Order: sequence, then structure tokens, then C-alpha cells
Amino acid sequence: MKDLTVQPSIGFELPEVFQGKHLIAGEWVSEGDTFDRISPSHGVVVSRSAKGDEAMTERAIAAARETFDSGAWSRISGKERAAALLKVADLIEANVDRIAVQESLESGKPISQARGEVGGAADLWRYAASLARTTHGDSHNTLGEDMLGVVVKDPIGVVSIITPWNFPFWILSQKLPFALAAGCTVVVKPSEMTPSSTVMMGELLVEAGLPAGVCNIVLGYGQPVGSVMSTHKDVDMVTFTGSTAVGKLITEASAGTLKKVALELGGKNPQVIFPDADLDNATDAVTFGVYFNVGQCCNSSSRIIVHEDIAEDFVARVVALSRKVKFGDPMDPETQVGAIVTAEHNAKIDGYVQKAVQAGARVEIGGATLAVDGLGEQFYQPTVVSGVTADMAIAREEVFGPVLTVLTFRTLDEAIALTNDSDYGLSAGVWSDDIHTCLEFARRADAGTVWTNTWMDGYPELAFGGMKQSGQGREIGRYGFEEFLEVKSLVMRVGRDSRAPWVNSGD
Ligand code: NAD
Repeated sequence: MKDLTVQPSIGFELPEVFQGKHLIAGEWVSEGDTFDRISPSHGVVVSRSAKGDEAMTERAIAAARETFDSGAWSRISGKERAAALLKVADLIEANVDRIAVQESLESGKPISQARGEVGGAADLWRYAASLARTTHGDSHNTLGEDMLGVVVKDPIGVVSIITPWNFPFWILSQKLPFALAAGCTVVVKPSEMTPSSTVMMGELLVEAGLPAGVCNIVLGYGQPVGSVMSTHKDVDMVTFTGSTAVGKLITEASAGTLKKVALELGGKNPQVIFPDADLDNATDAVTFGVYFNVGQCCNSSSRIIVHEDIAEDFVARVVALSRKVKFGDPMDPETQVGAIVTAEHNAKIDGYVQKAVQAGARVEIGGATLAVDGLGEQFYQPTVVSGVTADMAIAREEVFGPVLTVLTFRTLDEAIALTNDSDYGLSAGVWSDDIHTCLEFARRADAGTVWTNTWMDGYPELAFGGMKQSGQGREIGRYGFEEFLEVKSLVMRVGRDSRAPWVNSGD
């Protein structure tokens, strides 16, 4: 399309095909079959990975179990665990470029966003390190004069970590350092589409001197690797980020052993725009919210709910800004919107748009797949769809692409009703100059995170997670750390005085 800003190929020299191996008990292992990842933007193989099977997954779980039970990590001091995590943070920062290039090639995301993701992850490791020294429970001295109660917290045990392809390094860092800070040992399975940055993370952990067996990595597919990680009796907890459909499968699979399950799933996140908002800032946040990471983002603000008095003007602003968003070659540092992860997914995104058009919606800009000069055809135009009704699939389901849908409202109650009329409840945003409007919206929105006059600002201190079918449990922050801890009550009798016996043994 002529009126879009398209970055042609910059002729990037590709690195050698990355060879991914499993990490089991401190050893790099590759046995049996392999699988390849073809770059969605460059159309060539960019990684070849060992393909884990049931036996390899069981080996990884056995290593994690044995290491946990040995106490080599679970029973050392928080100070020692914190020191190791801080080393990892430094190593991440020293390796940003190498990891970001590989992640960008495998996922199709712009290199600038991959750099931000990898570099920013170091802060999650530093914050988790600070928590490693704060595991504490409480004591109760009001149980009676001769009794003392102490509640302690211990690492939950062996944790399975299963991650998606859209932010492989960041999401791993929302889980792994927190589990490690708590004293857990882990088995990690990255997505089959983006395995390499997790292997690189494994290399950094080895370099940082983490004891063998603390972090084990198995590469491969949901079946059988993820499935064994969700069912095995020696796993105490599964923490999963991915689609709601797979989250439900994992919940079912884990039921046989009643392990703890933490889920970070999909979203259909609205930004609500009131007429008194700073419309320049809101427009910028809406374009960022929908196009960041090519719209393949759990937090994508894929639907805006805009007051009808300003709807026409606001949509015109978003369309005008969409024309300026630079999309195309992910390796170009200037690019803001890269490639779509697979051809099937690209077709699925287009299917949502075409179906909405057939049902009466209007495409204001974009609305088609695109080939970028010198690169493949796995791109989708920045797209804005108006004339949408709340019952359309495009307004209810996670499109997971650079596609914005527009709904309108008249009153605050209506805006809140539209916001909450969703199976999801991950995040929501409100734009207004009126503190009362903002606070009322923030309190009444069904969402794990509500942003006011900003979008997608995240901090390691603040818990992240979803309501309804967006998940269960929380990640990062103190709450995220506590998910990896088990609570135990110690009930102690104080003093040597004999108690009245339960059975009178006398005559
Ligand atoms: P996905 O559910 O297809 O896959 C996620 C992971 O699960 C992959 O590693 C996959 O191999 C594995 N898996 C597949 N089947 C499995 C099974 N039966 N048992 C165990 N593991 C299995 O998700 P995706 O396509 O990689 O990622 C996109 C989804 O992730 C979107 O829905 C997005 O909203 C969601 N997401 C959520 C968050 C959040 O924090 N809430 C963050 C990022 C992505």
C-alpha cells in the first residue's frame, strides 16, 4: 500500500544457524531428532534444535528433583541465591545484541523491540535477587502462654516453566528468576518457534555458576514435552504463559497430581477514551498499544472504546498516525512493526478482518497481508476497523495481530459495561482529565492491570496477571514471588510442665 511507511530489506547478514541443545543436570545434550525454525521475515532456517521426547523430559525432571532434594540450591542462604541472580543480570546486559538478533529472526519482531525486551529483562533478575533475601512468614504468640506458632515459607519444589513465542526472553524472566529466588529448581520448555533465546539464557546461567540441575531446559513441542511437564508426579507446580486453550489443557493434565498451576493467558484489552482526555497522548498510546510486537502481545490494546462525540476525530487521528508507523524489515533499527509469526497466523488475522467486513464493519486503513521488498510475505498491514459491534468475533476474540477495532460509548456506565463484556480480564486503560472518571473506571474494570493516562507501563514491583479466562495467579512483584513458596505452620509447645493427659493412664 502506497500510503503506508514500509521499510524494505536492509540486506542483513544472517548469523550461522543456531544449534540448540537441551540442558540436563548441567550438561548440554542433543540426541535423536531435531527441528528447524524458519524465520518469518527472512524465510530461511535460523535455528536447528534438539527435539525433546518423553524420556528426555523425564531426565530433566529427575535432575530438577534430585537437585531440589539435595538442598544444593533450595537450602542455601538467600544471600547466595541473590548473588547468583545478580551475576545473571550482568551477563544478560553483556549479551543483549546476540540474543536480540536471534530472537528477532525467530519471532519476526523488530530488532529495537527485541533489544528492549532482552536488555529490560536484566531488571527483572535484579529485582528477583532482592526478593531472595526476603522470604519470611510470621509468628503468633497469642495462642496461649505455653504455645508458640510460627508460619514459615519454603520453596514449593520442582517447577515446570512453559513459555510462548511472543516474548520468549521476557516471559522467561518473569518466571525463572522468581522461582530461583524462592529456592525452587526448574524445567523450562520454550516455544518450538522461538527456542534459541532460552538456550542462550541457559548458557548464561552456566556461566554465572548456578549449580548443575537447578535449571534444566528441554526443547520441543507441547506434545510430548509440555504434556509430561504438566502431568509428572515429581513436578510440584506448573507456570504457563500462552493461549487460553492450552492453559485449559494444562489445568486438566495437572489435575491427576493436583499440582499448583499458575496461568498467564490471552486478553482482549480495551483503552477507553473520554472527550476530555489529552488526545495526542491517547492517540500515540493506542497506536503503540496495538502495533507493538506486531500486535502479537497479550497486552495488545486491540479494541478501543471511544466516546461517540470524538469517535470520528479520534479514529482519523489514529489512522493518520498509523500511516507513519514504520513497518517492514525487522532487522532495520528504525522498524516498528515486523513480520507475523507464521503464514497460518497471518491468514487467521486476515480472516478476522474479512469476516468483520462481511458483517458490515469498515476498514479505515490496512486490512490485507503484504509482501515486503526483499523479504517474505508474512507481513500484515497496520489495520483499523470501525463500525464494529460488540458481538463480532473481531471485537471479542484475541486477533493477535496489528488490528485495532473501534467501539463507541456514551456514558461511563456504558464504557465499563463494554469493558467487562469479555471472557478475558487481563488489562484495561482509561484516558480522561477527570480523576473521578479515572478512579471509578479503574475500580470497576475487570482487569488484572488498569492503566490511567498511560499504556503498558510495567514495573518488576507490580504484580501482573489476569482475571476471568486471562489466567490465574500473579507474576512478578512480591505476589509473583510468593507463588513459588509453600506455607508451613510450626506449632510448638513451650516449657516442660506436663499437660493434662488425653487418656488417664492412672487407676
Ligand atoms: P500456545 O498456547 O500455543 O503455546 C504456549 C506454549 O505451550 C508453547 O511452549 C507450546 O509448545 C506449549 N504447549 C502447547 N500445547 C501444550 C500442551 N498440550 N501441554 C503443555 N504445553 C503445551 O501460545 P503461543 O501461541 O505460543 O502464545 C500466544 C498466546 O500466549 C496468546 O494467547 C497470548 O495472549 C498468550 N500470552 C499471554 C501472556 C500473559 O502474560 N497473559 C503473555 C504472552 C502471551
